[in-house]
Amino acid sequence: MQRRTFLASSAASAVLVMFRNQLAFAKDPDWMKNPLLAPFTGPYGGVPPWDKIKTANIKPALLLGMDLHRAELKAIAETKEPATFANTIAAYEDAGRPFGRAANLMGTLAGTMSDKEMQAVETETAPMLAAYGDEVIQNEALFARIKAVWDGRAGAKLEPDQARLLETHYRSFARRGAALGKKEKERVKQINEKLAALYTTFRQNTLADEEAKMIVIDKEADLAGLPDGLKSAAAANGEATKQKGKWVIRNTRSSVDPFLTYSTNRDLRKKVWQMFVGRGEAGKTANQATITQILSLRAERAKLFGFASHAHWIVDDNMAKTPDKALALMMKVWPAAIARVKEEVADMQKLADGEKAGIKIEPFDYRFYAEKVRKAKYDLDQNEVKGYLQLENIREAMFWAAGQLYGLKFTQVKGVPVYHPDMRVYEVTRGGKRVGVWYFDPYARDGKRSGAWMSEYRTQESFKGVLTPIVSNNCNYVKGKAGEPVLISWDDAETLFHEFGHALHGLLSNIRYPTLAGTNTLRDFVEFPSQINEHWLSTPEVLNKFAIHYQTKKPIPKELVEKIQKAKNFNQGFTTVEYLMSAIYDMRIHTAAVGKGIDPSEFEKSIFKEIGAPKEIVMRHRPTQFLHIFADDGYSAGYYSYLWADTLTADAAEAFKEAGSLYDKATAKKFETMILSIGNSIPPDEAFRKFRGRDVDTNALMRDRGFPVAK
Ligand SMILES: [Zn+2]
Repeated sequence: MQRRTFLASSAASAVLVMFRNQLAFAKDPDWMKNPLLAPFTGPYGGVPPWDKIKTANIKPALLLGMDLHRAELKAIAETKEPATFANTIAAYEDAGRPFGRAANLMGTLAGTMSDKEMQAVETETAPMLAAYGDEVIQNEALFARIKAVWDGRAGAKLEPDQARLLETHYRSFARRGAALGKKEKERVKQINEKLAALYTTFRQNTLADEEAKMIVIDKEADLAGLPDGLKSAAAANGEATKQKGKWVIRNTRSSVDPFLTYSTNRDLRKKVWQMFVGRGEAGKTANQATITQILSLRAERAKLFGFASHAHWIVDDNMAKTPDKALALMMKVWPAAIARVKEEVADMQKLADGEKAGIKIEPFDYRFYAEKVRKAKYDLDQNEVKGYLQLENIREAMFWAAGQLYGLKFTQVKGVPVYHPDMRVYEVTRGGKRVGVWYFDPYARDGKRSGAWMSEYRTQESFKGVLTPIVSNNCNYVKGKAGEPVLISWDDAETLFHEFGHALHGLLSNIRYPTLAGTNTLRDFVEFPSQINEHWLSTPEVLNKFAIHYQTKKPIPKELVEKIQKAKNFNQGFTTVEYLMSAIYDMRIHTAAVGKGIDPSEFEKSIFKEIGAPKEIVMRHRPTQFLHIFADDGYSAGYYSYLWADTLTADAAEAFKEAGSLYDKATAKKFETMILSIGNSIPPDEAFRKFRGRDVDTNALMRDRGFPVAK
């Protein structure tokens, strides 16, 4: 759920929202020679030219792309005829395609193939892109024409998607200060440039701690409890960090979480945990002062825009509309979640007492004892499950489920450019017709950011001719030896289905204008299609067919599936509370008065005292490492979105269950037509009402997590 991020976040992302990345019209043959700017060519309606891009070409491409876009905007702004939808809004929608392509290709490579040279390009271009974004928003002549179309909308006889496009563009200008006076505009520009630099500092400090800090283990005895796979990964980390013969626990979640789950050495667990939750907190890489500045600049900017706080400004553009509504949902779930944590801690304490461990459960014990309780209560061993989860089979399972539900077919194709040889390409068809292209980049490597995500290389549209979507899924599995299957955990398999849900959202889009298409939806809606897709992993149809043991070749036994189902809501107290702590912190600190400057660590202490957070759990992302909210504007005042979207998810999943099956064809058809294909062409609450016949029922979420529903 909240573990997965959506889309590579880069300084370019804010700009990307405005400029899409499709066809261009040839005016000047010179820019066509730059592979970052040129329209995609080749099979499947054109594909990204990954084989032709050189890092040295990126900055010139961005600069040239901006110039091209400037010229287009100038032409729109200087049109003599009165402003109309066609000569202003549609023309604006069609502008900036070469620039959009370049920014998109760069963003993808920065997240997947980064090195020193690429980092230097990013550092140099981030403030440049921020400044260009402001230049466009602050173009007075252009905004005057957009506003004229907006003001005359009542008599313009626009079709519904045109009206929505007009509203979206008008709001994106107005919300970001297009109507401000000269002095205020200048200040907004300064703030955005300062923020872009602070975000880079925050990100680099956090990454520096992740890369430089590690726990080195000299004695094999200190690996007690770890499964073999983890031991060899720790040994490989030793070699990779030039400490051959030693074992190394890196300062990343994928290294730390399994160690905390299995290591029987409590002192080491404590050390590893302290290292991980202390990222960005001390020494040269401390982020507190940076956060204080970010908060104060954001608050000042929101005030200039006419909003009470940064959170008010952000949430206004989402389904929740106000911070209070978002907080109300979080605080509805909070009491049930902390009550569940009390039960979980009691179970763990009982087990520890039974072992005569002589300890009181601390945060660094939670994963370890939770795993023991899981085994004791459900007889479910995560490692046993892993034997049945082969990466390639799970990928086939996603394809199969998408075939059952939406009639899609995935066929691997060769000869399409890729940026790394591990990357694979699939053509997606339905009834023999091309739907789009799906790229898969499954393995971890240096220069690729951690986690899993989906990217859109080309958004679907039918505005200037039909363009089919090109999307990718990216993960960080450890590549196995040739011929050996890659085994993944249950959690990883869920993540794969999750990201594939984003991919389906992009692929099944059926919209005229790219700004409104695919995954370009409101932020608290965008995790809905991905979260619901997780539900198909645990269906018996998928497990019996695709969860095949890598050695015995036998399908997963029925008893093991039943255990998985029974254990579904196990540890839900922990999962929900560590997420909610981060989400509540995010919303509260972005509504707080910044007057004398906020100390983010003091704020953390006081807020969790106030709401009675259990002392056995800390925030999933503590303030000084909370990249979602401090490495860009991305999920700031928006970390609640996962929970918001999860209420839609739980309620929609019940629609399938009410129809008798998660594979019910009529419900799937309805879901595709009313949710997956509509992008942001209609307000999402309206879309949900069409699908469900009523507003969302937040109690579905409580049922889904196994929490009691308040009467
Ligand atoms: Zn997601």
